[in-house]
Amino acid sequence: MTTKAQDGPAPVILWFRRDLRLADNPALNKAHATGRPVVPVYIHDEGTAVRPAGAASLWWLDKSLRALAGSLAERGATLILRRGDSETELRRLIDQTGADTVFLNRLFEPEAWTRDADIAHGLKTDGVECRGSNGSLLALPGSLLNGSGGPYKVFTPFMKALRAQAEPPAHTTGPRQLGAAPGLESDDLDAWGLHPTRPDWSKGFDWTPGEDGATAALHRFVSGGLADYSNGRDRPAEPATSRLSPHLHFGEISPWRAWIAARDAADGGKVTSGEADKFIAELIWRDFSAHLLHHFPTLPDKAFRPEYDAMPWRDDEPGFLAWTRGMTGYPIVDAGMRELWATGVMHNRVRMIVASFLIKDLLIDWRRGEAWFWDTLVDADLASNSQNWQWVAGSGADASPYFRIFNPVTQGQKFDAEARYVKRWIPELAPVPARWIHAPWNAPPEILRDCGIRLGTTYPRPIVDHARARERALAALKTVTAER
Ligand code: FAD
Repeated sequence: MTTKAQDGPAPVILWFRRDLRLADNPALNKAHATGRPVVPVYIHDEGTAVRPAGAASLWWLDKSLRALAGSLAERGATLILRRGDSETELRRLIDQTGADTVFLNRLFEPEAWTRDADIAHGLKTDGVECRGSNGSLLALPGSLLNGSGGPYKVFTPFMKALRAQAEPPAHTTGPRQLGAAPGLESDDLDAWGLHPTRPDWSKGFDWTPGEDGATAALHRFVSGGLADYSNGRDRPAEPATSRLSPHLHFGEISPWRAWIAARDAADGGKVTSGEADKFIAELIWRDFSAHLLHHFPTLPDKAFRPEYDAMPWRDDEPGFLAWTRGMTGYPIVDAGMRELWATGVMHNRVRMIVASFLIKDLLIDWRRGEAWFWDTLVDADLASNSQNWQWVAGSGADASPYFRIFNPVTQGQKFDAEARYVKRWIPELAPVPARWIHAPWNAPPEILRDCGIRLGTTYPRPIVDHARARERALAALKTVTAER
């Protein structure tokens, strides 16, 4: 099974990770530019060096790898699949091919960063070089520093600095032809068991993972939702956002591509500059999260503002279960949690509402919510997830203050006024008029009866009283701030 003895130049290895695309892929372009055969490999490393992917992410990975393998095959290359410890598998491949260089796009999460640095160091001592590129972020962590030379902890100056140095790279489509790596063993993707069975909970996942799916999503958005993005993005019933997050997470599209598409739409007069800028600002939030995690490695585990780790969290298992199952009795919260379970994503506005409900109405530790999202989101991203959970919890960098406690009823009435979102995800409430649906317990009994609703039976009563829960949350906050 070894090609080492073959004639011709030694190949180089292209180590795919979360850059599952051929276009705008700096590591691929550099590997190809060597003029040597390129051996593309993906290693499914289930070790403990980095946090293992959640179930929904594995669902996505399965399809994304199939798409990548298909695109590579069209260009004459075979994606080699290996399962096991990254360094061991790389060494095995190096041994089998005689490669002396590994090209890769860097991962910036601290654990992955350290693991990769260790691998690079280990390989270097054996004469194999690892060449890393940035294929996932707009700016390299460390390249944007504040006036005192430290990392930015506030978003707006970070955004300004990033925009000031932004130099969108030229679009590349990747090499037309890649040579095949002959005779290398590759795992059977089916045997990795990434797709759920018994039960298959992914039946409602309406996604096209892979580079083509990412490009199609971007085109759809630029010719649709972008025109009214700043307003539409807060309305969960509207298809107003890009749905690019899982594609960006798995690197099926470069964030620059999304940036440039929005800019071009504005330059061509299809959308206003303000709409394009708002969308670009969200892409920059993604970078901000990644930079924060890179510089503050404990972000997923510890409060960024340490006093918040003294919060008197409640141990409320029934409350947590009701939250995960979309059975809290607050329709906008339940709709969001059911959307998440059914589709692998949840609208951003509703993510904020359900997170606020868990942290403040139930007074449950934000880390439990972060872990649930990690397992159920197809776009689960260590940086964005922990940064956003801490944003809602008030403990993060540049976070929303803790005392800003969303009222789940008024949030529903404001952002889902016609209740199209709630009706979609909570069919048992669908007959209830929009006027009553966000607080069904306030509806006149005859209306509930006519709609076939029996609170506590066909749909739960609220598991907490929001007004009282709010007071409890504010009292909890006082214990934390009093300790400072
Ligand atoms: P669009 O509105 O079209 O935005 C474009 C892109 O900008 C997104 O694809 C995403 O990459 C980025 N973006 C948008 N909003 C944010 C944000 N608040 N923070 C960071 N990047 C952003 N996003 C994730 O990608 N992974 C997560 O694990 C994640 N967890 C979250 C947890 C909570 C509690 C909250 C409140 C938000 C979380 N987000 C997360 C951010 C946001 O909800 C999603 O990025 C967004 O809903 C994805 O939809 P979209 O692609 O249509 O976004």
